[in-house]
Amino acid sequence: MSQIHILDQQTANSIAAGEVVERPASVVKELVENSLDAGATTISVEITGGGILSMSVNDNGAGMDETDARIACSRHATSKIRTIGDLDAIGTLGFRGEALASIAAVSKLTLRTRQPESAMGFELRIAGGEMIESGSVGSPVGTTILVEQLFYNTPARFKFLKKDSSEAAAIAEIMERFVLARPDVSFRLLNNKQEVLHSPGNNDLLSAIYAVYGRQQAGYCVPVSGSNGPLTVSGYAARPEGARGNRSGQTLLVNSRIIRSSAVTAAINEAYKTRLMKGRFAFTVLRLDLPPELVDVNVHPQKLEVRFWKDQEVFSAVYHALVSALNEHAGVPEFAPDASPAPKSATTPAPIPAQSPAQAPAQAPPQAPAQVSAPAAQTRKPGESGNYTLKDSTVAPEPATGSSIFSDQWPVTSKPVPIAATEEPAASKPVAEPVTEIQHQSLLKAADLSQGRIIGQLFSTYILVEWQNELLMIDQHAAHEKILYEKLRAALQARKKPAVQLLLVPQTMTITPAEKIIFESEKEFFSDLGFELEPFGSNSLLIRSLPELDSTKINAEAAVRTALQNLQNVRRAAPETIDSIIDETLYQMACKAAVKAHDKLAPAEIERLLADLAPLENPYTCPHGRPVIIRMPRLELEKKFKRVL
Ligand code: ADP
Ligand code: MG
Repeated sequence: MSQIHILDQQTANSIAAGEVVERPASVVKELVENSLDAGATTISVEITGGGILSMSVNDNGAGMDETDARIACSRHATSKIRTIGDLDAIGTLGFRGEALASIAAVSKLTLRTRQPESAMGFELRIAGGEMIESGSVGSPVGTTILVEQLFYNTPARFKFLKKDSSEAAAIAEIMERFVLARPDVSFRLLNNKQEVLHSPGNNDLLSAIYAVYGRQQAGYCVPVSGSNGPLTVSGYAARPEGARGNRSGQTLLVNSRIIRSSAVTAAINEAYKTRLMKGRFAFTVLRLDLPPELVDVNVHPQKLEVRFWKDQEVFSAVYHALVSALNEHAGVPEFAPDASPAPKSATTPAPIPAQSPAQAPAQAPPQAPAQVSAPAAQTRKPGESGNYTLKDSTVAPEPATGSSIFSDQWPVTSKPVPIAATEEPAASKPVAEPVTEIQHQSLLKAADLSQGRIIGQLFSTYILVEWQNELLMIDQHAAHEKILYEKLRAALQARKKPAVQLLLVPQTMTITPAEKIIFESEKEFFSDLGFELEPFGSNSLLIRSLPELDSTKINAEAAVRTALQNLQNVRRAAPETIDSIIDETLYQMACKAAVKAHDKLAPAEIERLLADLAPLENPYTCPHGRPVIIRMPRLELEKKFKRVL
């Protein structure tokens, strides 16, 4: 029976006919939504060449009859609404009636479909919007839509497509969202014939989380439930040790649609406020169910932000559900791997990561007890005084200048002083002195530092060295980070494999389908750096070797994960910014791999760190400009003690 009708012009125009087809991932999204609207319980997506070559979406849904199939591909054909008034209470995902038509206009599309009651299926082929052929075919019940050569007739749009792997990763991300949104449907994604995602469709949200994020992350999750008037909250939230480095682990489903809401984000932040360090973000997959008329469904396809009838009610329901779930399941973490680290913005210097139970050294065996004794770590922002700072009200800090990263760090001298063989009081050097000049006049030789006497570690965070007539204070994290960064960069520039250090026992790490695709396409990046990685099972990587960096322990998993996350962004980047993304990636890898504040270092490790630091061209600042070394001349101490005036 025919169900499709053409929307009247006014209705069609009322619905902003934004660009539906922007890239392969948007095609997959529209097609899968159609399959869901058709009541499918199994949806299989196969892509080749990043989806640009081909994408096919196969479902076991209701199918279409011949008449419907024919008009489904013409503009504003939909079976889902008749007038603009219906837009308010929409239960289906698609409603604009333009997706199939838009897709068919810019690709070669084959549609094959059969309804359960008909004996034969129907197939049609369209190229660039023109019907090529159609007729009866044998077909299983349901619909398969094959889209080939996307944008073959619109070169301007073709040009904007990214690398295959980037487009494939975007598709995988879309599929990950569907898996979380619809645990009752079994989804499968094959990328170049390789299965990258497969969810059971058993209507269990935790199984869906497992399918996307892996066993470990699912293991951190505790059930959440609550209600407030017409609103119910359900889902899962990870205990604090399952927190991640960014918000990408926060999924919100409102009546089964993935959506963002600032009220919910605020509630999550508030509920986790005292449980997470700065820079860590809760992992949550939450469902809100409420009558559709209480949600402001935004009909614009790109806008994902939702508004509720009363944001405050939503906030309070989510907040209380989370807090009681977390309180109920609070306890000592059993195992503390490094969750995925945060990509830092390229413009703001990142806070120094501090050691926390969630950041145990990667080399620790998986069963290692968490370091619950680690002090509640605080992250320190550049420029923020650490609690060690000696406040000296008699010395006014220098006004901040362009390179004022040093101000406040050591109020006594108020400025960075290059480590140079000079007895000059530090204060005579202008704070805004260009870094290049500092480098020239003060190259620090390895021999110089080895003449220094290592006093030891202060607060398990700084290395103190007596060197000539000064006290050197070295931030162990910043120093190690700088060393690693320089070595990684040198390895990449040399384009020849650096010496590697084989791991006796390979380390495994869990990755998401999108990360896996990125890995497959960036294998070389990792091996150029000396990370020998190998896929293991469907959602893990084996780390077989590390670049031979130095003897100080490095956190390889965190480095690899941050690189994968960063490289995903390459797809969004213009070619001319790729270099800086790579550079930023190296820096972040170094940051994640480096020893942290509060890591205890053995004397040999301290020596090694200093030996590696000294020969660097610029050992004074980290790649983002935070100081690595500050010094206090003896004279300053003597003034403080009023030994000299
Ligand atoms: P919309 O989803 O906004 O209605 P589309 O262009 O995506 O518009 O689809 C047009 C129509 O084609 C849908 O309303 C639906 O009736 C039919 N259709 C599309 N895909 C399928 C499918 N996989 N199974 C059954 N019907 C489908
Ligand atoms: Mg649709």
